[in-house]
Amino acid sequence: MTVVDRQEWDVVVVGAGGAGLRAAIEARERGARTAVICKSLFGKAHTVMAEGGIAAAMANVNAGDNWKVHFRDTLRGGKFLNQWRMAELHAQEAPQRVWELETWGALFDRTQDGRISQRNFGGHEYPRLAHVGDRTGLELIRTLQQKIVALQQEDFRETGDYESRLKVFQECTVTRVLKNGRHVSGVFGYERESGRFFVLQAPAVVLSTGGIGKSFKVTSNSWEYTGDGHALALLAGAPLLNMEFVQFHPTGMVWPPSVKGILVTESVRGDGGVLRNSEGERFMFDYVPDVFKEKYAESEEEGDRWYDDPDHNRRPPELLPRDEVARAINAEVKAGRGSPHGGVFLDVSTRMPAEVVKRRLPSMYHQFKELADVDITAEAMEVGPTCHYVMGGIAVDSDTAAARGVPGLFAAGEVAGGMHGSNRLGGNSLSDLLVFGRRAGRHAAEHAAGQGQERPRVDDAQVDAAAAEALRPFSAETEAETEEKTGAGAGTSGEPAGGPPSRMPENPYTLHQELQQTMNDLVGIIRREHEMEQALRKLAELRVRARRAGVEGHRQFNPGWHLALDLRNMLLVSECVARAALERTESRGGHTREDHSAMERTWRNVNLLCAMADPTGGVAATAPERGQIVLTRETTEPIRPDLLALFEKEELVKYLTEEELYE
Ligand code: FAD
Repeated sequence: MTVVDRQEWDVVVVGAGGAGLRAAIEARERGARTAVICKSLFGKAHTVMAEGGIAAAMANVNAGDNWKVHFRDTLRGGKFLNQWRMAELHAQEAPQRVWELETWGALFDRTQDGRISQRNFGGHEYPRLAHVGDRTGLELIRTLQQKIVALQQEDFRETGDYESRLKVFQECTVTRVLKNGRHVSGVFGYERESGRFFVLQAPAVVLSTGGIGKSFKVTSNSWEYTGDGHALALLAGAPLLNMEFVQFHPTGMVWPPSVKGILVTESVRGDGGVLRNSEGERFMFDYVPDVFKEKYAESEEEGDRWYDDPDHNRRPPELLPRDEVARAINAEVKAGRGSPHGGVFLDVSTRMPAEVVKRRLPSMYHQFKELADVDITAEAMEVGPTCHYVMGGIAVDSDTAAARGVPGLFAAGEVAGGMHGSNRLGGNSLSDLLVFGRRAGRHAAEHAAGQGQERPRVDDAQVDAAAAEALRPFSAETEAETEEKTGAGAGTSGEPAGGPPSRMPENPYTLHQELQQTMNDLVGIIRREHEMEQALRKLAELRVRARRAGVEGHRQFNPGWHLALDLRNMLLVSECVARAALERTESRGGHTREDHSAMERTWRNVNLLCAMADPTGGVAATAPERGQIVLTRETTEPIRPDLLALFEKEELVKYLTEEELYE
């Protein structure tokens, strides 16, 4: 039996971004002893990078706003594939979550009359994003951290121990959710610094690990985004929903190469920035799709007037949902009208005075000045699409955030699927984290309380298997030699295309680079059937090779080892994305097929679910060369009639299937 540190908690939250921290606060406030685990230092989660703001229909800047308008915008943005109940709860509860943050100490930018200021963003009918300059995520995390410290101080006064009811385990990575039968029994992980293994036993686990962007070469995402929570859920037996939907943000930096992909916030366009091609044209006017025609300006003059008089003019098409803008930029570059480094121009310098740019977009000003030596108050930025967000995720119950099929497992934040349908609107993630982080924390605490003393025990055999799996990269060389001698192992059956791979240990960094290139080139912003088939073959080859990913040295802070372990997750998630993208023969939101370029109403009510082919999720999973994922279709739950009634019939006709319209 492997000797590991063990502790018992009521609720374990994996991830300390906005979703994880909000879940932990809620669970602790409802009486659950709660542990939070994160890969990086406490306070350094991806949420910190969020720039533009938190979408919430508070109606501070335009009195016309309310939750129904927000719900409508969210469904339009997601092309009606959103899990509608989530979109409803999100729109209704987001304002409360923002006000709550303020009572916990968040300092938002203000309107002239002292209310929380709200800014315009793509796809939102009214100014809706509560913000702190372009550093909103930092303030959100700071506030939640402060709240956690306040709760710990409260606990200290009562118990003499700050960490008696709420403890943060930083720089620790979870590699397995443990189960007893169908039920969650805890998590297995390692400390990144020492390499020591640990088990936290708990009847309820909340996954809030964020996204998957590091599977793609050009991405705005940080190093933490290796799809861990998605993979942990899959391996625990929970399905992933609609993984084909990956958001490519239209405006990432394109130059210099070392910073390619870093985000240029949508606030730049929300505050008046415009997109131009190499011929100086504001090309977005040529790319307004039929479903949005009535809502967007027809001329530059009308679009410009909208910033000052939104009630009598329509918004400029630079503020279309992200999928539309990203496709348009891609098309302009392809047509030879791109900027020198393969993007297009985004200009604020001719649109507002230098001091306004510096005040409203301070991070962008410094980002371009320091990283690209471009002064955005005097010249245009070069921008192009970058992999930014995954709409697909763990299939959850809308009200409770419970993962499907695994009692005791919950998911919130970017790792959860459904809320954003096929495309997320900017600002809707930070509000999603708060709304569903809170719900996940609440229901996890209730689940734990409901277990009484009869909690699922941790199975020692699972701990042994998880430890062996984690240690495998250290013995890759020996294993490869054994396979070489016996002729056994990878490559002996079902050879992936390209011939038998070498049996030498593989370098995890090389594998990661090949994976990123594959996903970028073959399952990127514009997809084609033969390329996705090619991607699946390449992924099979990489999976076989990844089993021989080997590292040298020891377990004390060893980044090569960490990456070797992360590869399992990125490969699993990438296979889900590629399989689902191949299956969905239409274009919708963050899934664009060159060979099926129209959005098909017949696909409107179809969800694609990915699950492990080996439902036990055993460490010795299925033969890697054959693929590990099975894909099934399911019909979505019909949208409740009173919510459908919020839309004009003419609009619904563009989206819903014949049967849905008839009903
Ligand atoms: P995160 O904040 O990423 O937290 C994930 C946590 O999980 C981290 O603590 C990480 O260490 C931990 N973790 C991961 N794997 C493991 C593991 N195996 N074991 C233990 N811990 C693990 N959205 C908006 O709504 N508005 C914006 O203005 C906005 N701006 C953005 C700007 C940028 C540059 C980017 C990249 C994104 C932006 N987004 C924005 C999107 C938004 O920031 C993210 O979707 C959101 O922060 C995700 O939060 P989360 O809590 O789900 O995950």
